[in-house]
Order: sequence, then structure tokens, then C-alpha cells
Amino acid sequence: MSESLVVFWFRRDLRLHDNVGLNAALNSGKLVLPIFIFDDQILKNIDQDDARLNFIYDQLQKINDQLVNYGSALEILKGNPVDVWKDITDKYRVTQVYFNHDYEPYAIQRDYEVEVLLCSKSIGVHAFKDHVIFEKDEVVKPDRFPYTVYTPYKNKWLEKFETIKEELQEKKTHTKTNYLCRISIFPSREELGIKNSAIRVPEFDLTKIKNYKKYRDFPFPDNTSHVGPHLRFGTISVRELALRAIQIDEVYLSEIIWRDFFIQILYHFPYVTEWSFKKQYEFIRWENRTDHFEKWCSGETGYPIVDAGMRQLNATGTMHNRVRMVCASFLVKHLLIDWRWGEAYFAEKLLDFELASNNGNWQWAAGCGCDAAPYFRVFNPSIQQERFDPELNYIRTWIPGYESSNYIKPIVEHNFARERAIQRFKDGLHEAGMNNQN
Ligand code: FAD
Repeated sequence: MSESLVVFWFRRDLRLHDNVGLNAALNSGKLVLPIFIFDDQILKNIDQDDARLNFIYDQLQKINDQLVNYGSALEILKGNPVDVWKDITDKYRVTQVYFNHDYEPYAIQRDYEVEVLLCSKSIGVHAFKDHVIFEKDEVVKPDRFPYTVYTPYKNKWLEKFETIKEELQEKKTHTKTNYLCRISIFPSREELGIKNSAIRVPEFDLTKIKNYKKYRDFPFPDNTSHVGPHLRFGTISVRELALRAIQIDEVYLSEIIWRDFFIQILYHFPYVTEWSFKKQYEFIRWENRTDHFEKWCSGETGYPIVDAGMRQLNATGTMHNRVRMVCASFLVKHLLIDWRWGEAYFAEKLLDFELASNNGNWQWAAGCGCDAAPYFRVFNPSIQQERFDPELNYIRTWIPGYESSNYIKPIVEHNFARERAIQRFKDGLHEAGMNNQN
């Protein structure tokens, strides 16, 4: 067998620069083989022309081009990760494996199984924090329990951030290039079963956040950064972003903290993927009308701000945060459809889909999450539109020629829907209380 080497496994950190696990692998001084695995388990649940799959492919190609400059190449693999690892460790003399932490339940189980395999072969495993600023138990209450309320979490986060700022700068250094020398032809999309997508992931633009605090709630013009998919797939380093954010806008930084907050919630309370964070909300009796759900998905509810949002999502894979909040509230409160249906639809469509943030925000909108909006707060879509799209610019972008006089009639009347939702939530919580006493 050939000479011994270490492997770096790319996952949601698709970049060579400021990548903690990759830096550690290179700093080991051993030859580094960089790999990526297209996981069959994940691929079977998404369309071949999914824009996110295409984005991953393009990014891997860019990484490969950079590696070619160092006389190396990215090894692209496909299959069940444990089986793939069996093959890699048969093919190469691997002594150590490096990767960055992933906090989703599926990934935790996958990594555990891979680690068991590697340990059985006496291969060392080194895993690092890279995807977030603070992970797991790094920001916890004085009693060591996780925070479930955002503001005290944020205060503690900021306090700790002050103490690590210098350290974050250092991670950027990337001087070693001891990659394994190899020549390999990068696989085509067809070979990997990927089809071109009509939707592209937009570039992020940090110049837009200069007045983030003032304009972030207005969907037109959209002055948010569009950094979401780049954070999700690691094409930007969250450390670089946070260091930029503190110089630009503190409200923007607080959004990055929301992301860390939801990721630690998912890590500590993985049941949220199936159940409400506040379990008493499981007693809500949903209407779950499929005809209403279909109208919501296709943007035909008769509420133009909701319809514009859903049409933007369907056409581009993105939707402005304010509009996401309105659409989510509308589904859960006006239509009384289980938040999990909406969560699943967003997961299928959003380019920046991240389990923790999607789940956390859906539960927030439904009132059942940690630190959620109170259940009796029901957004009025018409007032939201008057406040945040007064000139109808956003609506007319996604509903060309929109005129209120000849638009589709609302599928539910606002006052009726609002009162019905408040009553239904009240009844559900009452029933939960009764069940608790029994
Ligand atoms: P910016 O406004 O420029 O913010 C920068 C970054 O801060 C975002 O990219 C994101 O990483 C983080 N951030 C901002 N707001 C939030 C928030 N409320 N919660 C967590 N992180 C935040 N965000 C996702 O990244 N993935 C999701 O799957 C997701 N699903 C959502 C579902 C619903 C129902 C709602 C209401 C919000 C959801 N969000 C999600 C949060 C937010 O809408 C997006 O992060 C934001 O719109 C992305 O656009 P941007 O990158 O231009 O964000």
C-alpha cells in the first residue's frame, strides 16, 4: 500500500480558506487527502435538479480547481457514508481523519457510525467547531443548562465573543499546502446524477447591510445580505462574517446570534424536529385542509403579501425574512394548518434551508417554540403589507399587474380566521392542562 496520509472530509464547510478542520489536518504535517461524499440517504430525498445540489457541485469544482494548483485534487465519492469510509480505508493507508462538527440529528448519528468504524481500524478522529461561533455547551446558563430564551443567550454570547475575537482572526492563516499529490478527472454532473437547475444561488453582498437596522424589514428593495446559503454550505466563514458584522451593524450581528441560538436548541433538544418545543402545543386541533395548503403553496390565498412571498419562494428559492414571518403565521393561524407542513415545504424550496433555523422559526411563528411569539399574536397580512410594502413594489414584482379590485378573493376572512385561531389555541392549551392534571 502507498504512503500513510490523513483525510479531510468536507461537509458543510465548502471552502479552503479559514476552515478550522482543514487547517488542523494541514498543520498535522502529514499528506492530506481532501474528500467529499454525496450521501445517498440525502440524495434520495431531493430532486436531481435541486439548486442546492448544483451549488454544492459548483463549489466542489472550485475547490478542486484550487487544489489542482497545489498538484492535488478533491476525491468525490458517492454512497452510504459508512460504506464509503470502508472503501477509503481499504484503498489508502489512512492514519487520521479530520472534519468539522455538524449538529443535526442525522449527521450526529452518521458521524458516530463512521467514528466507530474508524476506531475499529485504529484510525484517529479529530472533529472541530467551524460552522458556528459558539457550539454545544459553550454558551449556557450559570447552572449549565442551555438557554431557551434568546435575549439572555445573546447577552452571554456577546460577553464571550469579546474574549475570543483575537483568536478568530488567527484562524484565517492558511500557509501549509501539504495536500496529497494526485491527478484525477473531476466527475461530470451526469456521472453524479445531477441535472442543471433553473434556479441559482445568489452571491452575497455585505455592502447592502450598511443600513441593515433601518431597512431590514422591507422586502423591496431587499437590503439583506443573502448570505444564508453561503453560511449553510460554508462558502463563507461565519467567523469572518461575525468580525465584519461587528464593524458594520450590531443588529446584523444579532441575526448571526439567532442562528447560533437555534443550532444549540436543535442540538440540546433534538425532539423539536418532530414535536413542539412546548409540548402542550401538541393539543391544537388543526384544520389541515389540503385545498388550502395547495393554495398557500402556489401563492393563491387572495392575500397579496402572502401570495407574492410564496411565488418568490417557488421561483427563486428565497424569500425575505419579514415575508417568511407573514406567510408562516398565515398558514398556522389563518388556515390552522400544522406548522410541520409549512416547515417541510420551506425545507424543500429554500436555498438557505438549515434544519435548526427553519424549525426554530416555524415554531416561533406557531407560538410553540422556545421564546416564541405568543399564540394570540396573529399577523394581519393587510397591515403587514401597508407597513412593509406600502408602494406595492414587492407585490407587483411577484404578482405582475396586481390590482386589488380584480385580485383573487381571500380564501379565509381575516377577522373570522383570527378569532378562530385564538380560540383553537386556547382550547388546545386548556386540554393540555386537563391532561396534565389527569
Ligand atoms: P440577513 O437578514 O442578511 O441575515 C444574515 C444571516 O443571519 C442569515 O443568513 C441567517 O444565517 C441569520 N439569520 C437572520 N435572521 C435569522 C433568524 N430569524 N433565525 C436564524 N438565523 C437568522 N434562515 C435560514 O438560514 N435557514 C432557514 O431554513 C430559515 N427558515 C426560516 C423559516 C421561517 C418561517 C422564518 C420566519 C425564517 C427563517 N429563516 C431561516 C430566518 C431568516 O428568514 C433567513 O435567515 C433570512 O431571511 C436569510 O436571508 P439573508 O441571508 O439575506 O439574511
